[in-house]
Amino acid sequence: MLSDLVDLVLPATCALCHRPGGALCAGCRADVTACLHPSPRPAVPSPPPPGMPSCWVTGEASGALRAVVTAYKDEDRRDLAPQLGRWLAPALRAAVGQDGSARRALHGRGLLVVPVPGSPRARRRRGDVPLLAVVSEAAGGLGGRAVVATVLASTRVTRDQSGLDARARAANLHGAMTVRERQERAVSGAVCVVVDDLVTTGATLAEAARALHAAGAAQVLGAAIGATRRRVLVPANSPGPAG
Ligand SMILES: [Zn+2]
Repeated sequence: MLSDLVDLVLPATCALCHRPGGALCAGCRADVTACLHPSPRPAVPSPPPPGMPSCWVTGEASGALRAVVTAYKDEDRRDLAPQLGRWLAPALRAAVGQDGSARRALHGRGLLVVPVPGSPRARRRRGDVPLLAVVSEAAGGLGGRAVVATVLASTRVTRDQSGLDARARAANLHGAMTVRERQERAVSGAVCVVVDDLVTTGATLAEAARALHAAGAAQVLGAAIGATRRRVLVPANSPGPAG
């Protein structure tokens, strides 16, 4: 309440450089834009976790783009939601555009757009699903019947994912999400796009997809604002340049 009043009186400061100039100043906005791909790309973690849905991203999760997502999630900069939504939108459109069942659902029974549940820490700070406002902004541009639905819930407290490798993240998250009981009918037979902010190992999207399929989802796709750069693994038996 108090912060709402302060927002009315004081101009917002930039979430990254903290100078006046709105939620994100022109200079920092340009820094984030430099992290965006010319067009959305598939996110392909290496190796992809079992059950990782086909996922599209708008940019690379580094530098200013990672910082602005952190500011939204961990520094209570909810005023960034419209901007983050605009950066999520191209990935969401690509995910839907590449999949016939998603396009049909969008113009038929409805497409479920599902934000992943937040960490316990994020929930304490901001209610149940911190991504909801961002996803709602982006889904509004899809046209058709895009239904943003917080159908997923965490079943247990998981460890902080930072510092865990791909295998540890997958183990940490397996079975950690479920479809809310009263939402099971909506998920059964539905085409879903599950949305995360940044993709690292893909473990979060894979767990979300597992929970949605367990509740009878017909198809699960993924979209995110950014992904960490794919690590290129050279197979051990690949021939060297001199044979
Ligand atoms: Zn700035």
